[in-house]
Amino acid sequence: MAAIPFKQKSFWTDTVVMPAADPAVPLPEAADVAVIGAGFTGLSAARELALHGAKVAVLEAETFGWGASSSNGGMVLTGLKLGVDALLKKYGREAAQRMYAASLKSIDCVEEIVKQEGISCDFRRSGHLEVACKPAHAERFRRMADLTAREFNHRLRFVPGSEIRSEIGSGIYFGGLVDELSAGINPARYVAGLAQAAKRAGAFLYERTAVQHLESGLHQAKKGFRVSTSRGTFWAREVLVATSGYTGKATPALRKKIIPIGSFIIVTEPLPEDLARELSPRDRMIYDSKNFLYYFRLTPDRRMLFGGRAAFFPETSRTIGQSAKILHRGMLSVFPRLRDVKLEYAWGGTLDFTFDILPHAGQLEGLYYALGFAGHGVAMATYLGTKVARLICGERDENPFAGLPFPGAPLGLYNGTPWFLPFVGAWYKFLDWVS
Ligand SMILES: Cc1cc2nc3c(=O)[nH]c(=O)nc-3n(C[C@H](O)[C@H](O)[C@H](O)COP(=O)(O)OP(=O)(O)OC[C@H]3O[C@@H](n4cnc5c(N)ncnc54)[C@H](O)[C@@H]3O)c2cc1C
Repeated sequence: MAAIPFKQKSFWTDTVVMPAADPAVPLPEAADVAVIGAGFTGLSAARELALHGAKVAVLEAETFGWGASSSNGGMVLTGLKLGVDALLKKYGREAAQRMYAASLKSIDCVEEIVKQEGISCDFRRSGHLEVACKPAHAERFRRMADLTAREFNHRLRFVPGSEIRSEIGSGIYFGGLVDELSAGINPARYVAGLAQAAKRAGAFLYERTAVQHLESGLHQAKKGFRVSTSRGTFWAREVLVATSGYTGKATPALRKKIIPIGSFIIVTEPLPEDLARELSPRDRMIYDSKNFLYYFRLTPDRRMLFGGRAAFFPETSRTIGQSAKILHRGMLSVFPRLRDVKLEYAWGGTLDFTFDILPHAGQLEGLYYALGFAGHGVAMATYLGTKVARLICGERDENPFAGLPFPGAPLGLYNGTPWFLPFVGAWYKFLDWVS
């Protein structure tokens, strides 16, 4: 076992100085829009709103980018968490096609913002690779490639087991599926750049400002919300909830629709160039075909970043420590050559699953929201943040997730405390065993 201890923090946050807000600047008396949460969703929305001339106040309970946005794998992925076959079966051809097309557009959306704002965040279209853990999974990949070409006019390349070594330096997989359109990014640099861009566009950003309570009412004879925060109260005509897996008591109706699930990552010391090239010859964003999956990639400075849903519960010092051990064993099962390589970082973050495993963006009880990215949020959170901002500005912009019913738990058996996670975890492990 490589030497542990490691730093219990996101590697990405060590590569950037996050913009900070002046704590002496008071909250406004009133704003057009209050945005709750300063991650990809909240900041891309704030930028778009400010560019449309709205007076925007972004309220972040911790520091900018503190949530999943600076602690993820930096995989900018096409497709949705829900597979294309399930998407077609459940929503029909037309709706499924629009949702899948949105997933492709979301990558362009990130690329455009990065270019327009000159964000230095190592965005690169190096493609993604899904690897098959069982022969039956490789067969499914072949069918998925055909289905995606036929129904979505999008090319995925099936890689048979005999050729998988051209994509990954591991002997444990039975085939792969490549999408050249996906990209890699340094997420902390990206979210820092988004914060700067929102600020330049004219948004007001407040950190260490937790929203505690929202109350609809009238202000100067106009409908709006009284926004109570840890630093005082103000009025906003509209509110956008962009709190992802950290959605809490201030928005109880939305909290009941989000299941917070932990995801964890370890990062090694930098690898020698030839070893890095051997393990990932095409520098892909890689994930496997299990429900309890592993995802991994090289960082721009050639470290191995290896993540997974090792513990199901959100991040604490204990779950991070346990997960680091599980992930380290997992990493060595994929890449035994990393046995003597040191771990330098381990951390966790919280994912926002919905009960239908789809993202949702729209309005509930008067509050706008964009939530439910389920580990596919780097691109989609940026995209839906931008879309909802345009909706707030009165634009009828196409958004395939707007009209979807947003389900809660069956029989209403959930108030935001996910008591059922151990059972779900056991169920997924069982599925991985039998499927
Ligand atoms: C370990 C991990 C790995 C991941 N890997 C990938 C990946 O490789 N590719 C991918 O596409 N997606 C990935 N994701 C998912 C992706 O990171 C998220 O979907 C995305 O960052 C969500 O962005 P967001 O802005 O909606 O939420 P977040 O970035 O989580 O921001 C929400 C913010 O809301 C704030 N907040 C909450 N409540 C309040 C309140 N009451 N008042 C004020 N502020 C509040 C929180 O402090 C937080 O900063 C991963 C996630 C995790 C955790």
